[in-house]
Amino acid sequence: VDFAPAPEQVELRRELRAFLVEPAVQEEIARMRECPRGTEPDPTAIYRRLGERRWFAVNWPEEYGGQGRSLYDAAVVSEELHWHDVPDTMHTVTADIVGLFLLLAADPDQKRRFLLPMARGELLVSVLYTEPEAGSDLSSLRTKAFRSGGGYLLYGTKVFSLRSHSSHYGLCAARTTEGPNPQHGITLFLVPLDAEGVTIRPLWSIADERFDEVVLDGVRVGEDAVVGPVDRGWQLMSGALQLERTGVEQSFKARRWLDLVIRRAQETGRLTDPTIGAAIAELDAEVEAGRILAWSVLSRITHNQLDAAAAAMSKWYSSELVRRIAALAVELDGVTAMLSRWDPDAPLHGFAESLYRDAPGMTISAGSSEVMLHIVASAGLGIPEEVTSRTSG
Ligand SMILES: Cc1cc2nc3c(=O)[nH]c(=O)nc-3n(C[C@H](O)[C@H](O)[C@H](O)COP(=O)(O)OP(=O)(O)OC[C@H]3O[C@@H](n4cnc5c(N)ncnc54)[C@H](O)[C@@H]3O)c2cc1C
Repeated sequence: VDFAPAPEQVELRRELRAFLVEPAVQEEIARMRECPRGTEPDPTAIYRRLGERRWFAVNWPEEYGGQGRSLYDAAVVSEELHWHDVPDTMHTVTADIVGLFLLLAADPDQKRRFLLPMARGELLVSVLYTEPEAGSDLSSLRTKAFRSGGGYLLYGTKVFSLRSHSSHYGLCAARTTEGPNPQHGITLFLVPLDAEGVTIRPLWSIADERFDEVVLDGVRVGEDAVVGPVDRGWQLMSGALQLERTGVEQSFKARRWLDLVIRRAQETGRLTDPTIGAAIAELDAEVEAGRILAWSVLSRITHNQLDAAAAAMSKWYSSELVRRIAALAVELDGVTAMLSRWDPDAPLHGFAESLYRDAPGMTISAGSSEVMLHIVASAGLGIPEEVTSRTSG
């Protein structure tokens, strides 16, 4: 793998940076930074501007609103958004998770109807996979879809869905056929979130971002809401999840947050403190290692060499690293690190407090650390499942 950025990536980064410091964009970013406690920043105005320049989904084919560029270029866009404080959750979910899924599985009509407005940053789509009793083991999901009047009726409860309350559709996994093999009989649907029978309730977490519980009580969708083959959604979901677990997002967040720790250590004169300085130096090397792991996973995907173990390793490595960076951020300021961004005395707008609450979720979303280690053990090292699943003895 050649880790030096290609000239077109250097140019893309330069153009993005110029865009993100334009006064109108900076004004939007400042408005979001100052959003009152209990409210969420709304990045949709910036998303639409990105869409106008075909940057929102830069790696999608041109006919669907992208620029037909590489996954590396898409990673550059996400990095720059994060590094410039543009909330990127809905961008990641819509463009990198659902969009990628639709590119793989949707029919031409669905691609036209959904991908174009998504690439313009106008249509946001959330993910409705997890249920109260089905998370890591998603194949045990219980949401059901019954055939009815030329379409389907959906019943079930989804949890931990990010930003469903501000999305237009949800990509929902539901059971269409019961049988002895739980992985058979799952189908994917695009569900309009303003449809009759949909109830969205907040699920608060320790992090700033709100989750939703989405109850589907007899939600009617047409045949054209089905994405991919009926009953065979599991294979599609597993394939798409592997593409999601590159570790890229976790690695660029690790970079940004360690940079803030370094800035704070400089401000407080503690960079030369042997304990803090040594800890920072070690983490800095690990952040770079995480970046190399993540970009090498991207390189394999680009060359059609999907490697589940390498992707799981990368995701595990950088998400666990973020937790250690958060711990150091708190250690650096002691008790004042616990001041939130609404407190005028909070160091660097309360980044340590926010990071400390945000970090644990990164080791759970898109597959928990334990599950990542299972994949490394089984797919990477060939250790049989019955050994990796043993919890004692
Ligand atoms: C930040 C964030 C964003 C998310 N966004 C979405 C979203 O938009 N849409 C959506 O549908 N879901 C979303 N989720 C949910 C996420 O996919 C699930 O939380 C995750 O799959 C884990 O499922 P669970 O919470 O049910 O935990 P469980 O699967 O019940 O796991 C509980 C604990 O047991 C461990 N465990 C589970 N199985 C094993 C095993 N075989 N061996 C060893 N340990 C095991 C896990 O590691 C974990 O520590 C999000 C979660 C987070 C934290």
